[in-house]
Amino acid sequence: MASLREVYQEFYQIAEARAQRKPFASNLALWEMAKNCQRQLTGNEPLVWTRCTFPQELIWSFGILPVYAEMVTTIIGHVKKSPDFLMETESAGFSTDSCTVQRTSLGGILSDSYLKPVLLIGSTDFCEDGMRFFEHASRHYQTEYFLLEVPPICSPESVDYVEEQLRSIIAKLSQATGKPFDQEKLKGLIRCSNQIRAIQLKIEEWKRQVPAPIYGRREDDFFGLLNMGICGKVAGELASKYYEEIVARAAQGLRGAEKIRLMWLYALPPVPKVFEFLEELGAHLVATEQNSIHWDEMYENEPVRALAKKICQSRTIGPIENRLRHIIRMAKDYQVDGAVHFSHFSCAYSVGGIRIIRDELARQGISFLNLDGDCAVAQHNNIDQMRETLESFVERLTH
Ligand code: SF4
Repeated sequence: MASLREVYQEFYQIAEARAQRKPFASNLALWEMAKNCQRQLTGNEPLVWTRCTFPQELIWSFGILPVYAEMVTTIIGHVKKSPDFLMETESAGFSTDSCTVQRTSLGGILSDSYLKPVLLIGSTDFCEDGMRFFEHASRHYQTEYFLLEVPPICSPESVDYVEEQLRSIIAKLSQATGKPFDQEKLKGLIRCSNQIRAIQLKIEEWKRQVPAPIYGRREDDFFGLLNMGICGKVAGELASKYYEEIVARAAQGLRGAEKIRLMWLYALPPVPKVFEFLEELGAHLVATEQNSIHWDEMYENEPVRALAKKICQSRTIGPIENRLRHIIRMAKDYQVDGAVHFSHFSCAYSVGGIRIIRDELARQGISFLNLDGDCAVAQHNNIDQMRETLESFVERLTH
């Protein structure tokens, strides 16, 4: 079985070759991520494991490399080694019913100990599996686990509460690195993140147009990389280059007639060419829940509070109504005809709300498709069946 080190090396070779062959911003971002992964293996820089909803700026401000559990899973999936790592967890007695997103990276942890962190930061703002993942990782590495408690409602009091906890994390990171907290450095990182957010908003504007000159999943893949492991000036430059490329692409005009406007809910499937297949049918993906901006511009002069507020504004916290409100607003803003909910096997968080989302979208006149699958392991998806289901959905929408 491959070790995590081997996976990272294979990933680096793929990313480097791709970036040298086609130096687009998305390929350069992939290469940048691969370089950061190589840095994680050297043992020269401290690491903090965390999960996708925790803002990376605080970690980078101490010169620490963040390791996102979801990104480790994506990289393992990218080199098609997920089944090996899942097997590792099954041999260790973990249930096959638990989430493959968390279990794949846990398999990576169990396979070797290269990525030993100085701290693990989990969060209550998402799912139970994610919280358990950090407990196992903490036991394996014998490293402290900090569980950030995020209140279910965003209010000034909840921001106070999260800010107080972020200050405890700062104290721990300072102790682990022997460095004082550098507020100016954090301000600079937040400034870059605000610039990236502004670029994302401009791209969203393009996608709201009918017909949309830009569509597909590229933006999700690109900004996903920037959100989990590439930060500061490099990330800002990549985002600017990406935007210039988009403007040039949009100037070439539409590639095909837009018959149907689709919104994608929850995660994107790790299956090749799904969206290209939809495009051949005239169904263009114009909005994704995963990539939407749900937080305000961060107030740079109070950087810790700004991060606390961003955490509290997460669409993943609180009752389903929070998520629903966000989805309905997107459906209207992007004038979508239909919504596809990709329901990850064994994910109570995403699957539990389907009925409520479907009923509310129906009330708004928007068709809904529930598509079951695995967002972490390509091999667990039946591609032909997935295409057939999507084709009938699009047919239903066009008649
Ligand atoms: S897919 Fe669902 S269960 Fe798995 S990590 Fe994400 S929210 Fe948690």
